[in-house]
Amino acid sequence: MPSYPQHSPNRPILVIGSLNMDLVMRTPRVPQGGETLFGHDFATLPGGKGANQALACARLGGHVAMVGRIGDDNFGQVLKSGLARDGVHVSQITVTGGVTSGVAMILVEDIGQNRILISAGANGQVTAGDIDGVAAQIEQAAMLVVQLEVPLPAVLAAIKHAHAAGVPVLLNPAPAAALPDTLWPMVDLLVPNESEATLLSGVDVKDTASAAEAAAVLRARGVRTVLITLGAQGVLICDAQGVRRLPAQKVKAVDTTAAGDTFVGGLAVGLTEGMSLDDAAALGQAASAICVTRIGAQPSIPWRSELTPTER
Ligand code: ATP
Repeated sequence: MPSYPQHSPNRPILVIGSLNMDLVMRTPRVPQGGETLFGHDFATLPGGKGANQALACARLGGHVAMVGRIGDDNFGQVLKSGLARDGVHVSQITVTGGVTSGVAMILVEDIGQNRILISAGANGQVTAGDIDGVAAQIEQAAMLVVQLEVPLPAVLAAIKHAHAAGVPVLLNPAPAAALPDTLWPMVDLLVPNESEATLLSGVDVKDTASAAEAAAVLRARGVRTVLITLGAQGVLICDAQGVRRLPAQKVKAVDTTAAGDTFVGGLAVGLTEGMSLDDAAALGQAASAICVTRIGAQPSIPWRSELTPTER
């Protein structure tokens, strides 16, 4: 069973990724072309997968630093200071002149689905050159955690640096995108949800059996450990020990936004505390079970102290 380096102030978990301000409005229905409607319950809520995962690591007790870009605007300052307030090291979150911070405009129908439009803004300016500039931080990290909301060349550069330095790599391949074959053997932990696992593996993931099949396809490409999150069905784990599904907790879900990000945070913290893979996944699931009972991305991510003593 692989063991992972322990996180510490000098060896934090390093998250490289996106920060977005989510502009959320509820509406009875979405407007047609040319139509103006009154919505309700407007809120600006900090989000972005990178920022959510960094915050989840911090709230769940991890030493964590984040690398990313914000625009030269108020949203950027709010996003950065919110992470700092909860203990994320933010000195490598840099302001980019001439662009806005990342924004997600989210329309939530009262009885229907979300419609989300993302402006990458400063997130789209993260380059492979930025990654070279933080090579020392990557090499010192207990674990590198990346997603796909910043440009792929930057993600690939980060993964290469980490792998070459022996730093474990956790990739949450969201939003799903085609990835080069050379990437897989450098990924220690791959954490897709069902639709991402479907796109990456070519197997239609709809239940435990198909998730196991998809995970086997991904492991055959060289990924060490695959964890496919299955929403209310829990998580399917596939590693050298075999395949098993850990059920999710039974809760009344009101908004699953950031459930996957919270799971990733708990998993990364648990593994870099020396927990077994299954115990770290259980920590992630206990935290994401709380997350889904609350509205929004970052406001819904729990602190470690909110977990029951046995879950901590
Ligand atoms: P999102 O994109 O909304 O952040 P996701 O699609 O990446 O989420 P999911 O697979 O929906 O991720 O959920 C991640 C984890 O959150 C699950 O493995 C599970 O532990 C927990 N979870 C999600 N939905 C529920 C639910 N309804 N009840 C309990 N736990 C849940």
